[in-house]
Amino acid sequence: MKKIAIIVIMLALPLCAWAGQKEGDVMDIVKHMHRIGHDTFKVEGEKTIYTDPFKITKKDRADIILITHEHYDHCSPEDVAKLQGPDTVIVATADCAAKLKGNIKTVKPGDKLTVQGVDIEVVPSYNINKKFHPKGNKWVGYIFTVDGVRIYLAGDTDRIPEMKNFKCDIALLPVSGTYVMTAEEAVQAALDIKPKVAIPMHYASIVGTDDDAREFAKALEGKIKVVVLEAQ
Ligand SMILES: [Zn+2]
Repeated sequence: MKKIAIIVIMLALPLCAWAGQKEGDVMDIVKHMHRIGHDTFKVEGEKTIYTDPFKITKKDRADIILITHEHYDHCSPEDVAKLQGPDTVIVATADCAAKLKGNIKTVKPGDKLTVQGVDIEVVPSYNINKKFHPKGNKWVGYIFTVDGVRIYLAGDTDRIPEMKNFKCDIALLPVSGTYVMTAEEAVQAALDIKPKVAIPMHYASIVGTDDDAREFAKALEGKIKVVVLEAQ
């Protein structure tokens, strides 16, 4: 009987939704997240983490910089330089790393690493109905943990099947269409991922407008909490 019970539990486990952190704890982290613009976020925890630095106007010091792929609006050497100090660690794909100098960890989808105490999982990020970000390029998104809260940075991606298996409390999702998901597709992606909080990105800079972010928020009303962070 015991054996059967264990087997039943093991079969049921993957079906259980990931409980994640309490909404209050997640919102505490959201309060420490600043959207600089496009896909650039500053996350202030024990460490200062920047994502895809682009159009940085204020010099700052990052402990960790996460870069999803080598396109100029994500992998920008001049913007990285504005945040980089002697101890800054950059996590980037190989094609981006080739453009940068400093302490760089080169990653591909499936990698797991810990940088300055921050756990980072590297996940795939690619297009399925357009050609700009082919799966074969091995470009990435990240799930990184700040004070126990898992933050997913999607990168330039469409709604991909892997998303159903991502476990995160906060999801940063592109919504502009053209090179990435449309707002409507991003809504479906959010429903796949089921984060406590979804934050739209990748609009009002190169492509997309504030309307895309609003449309995303409106469609998820009553389903998933959406926080639209004003660009700073
Ligand atoms: Zn791109």
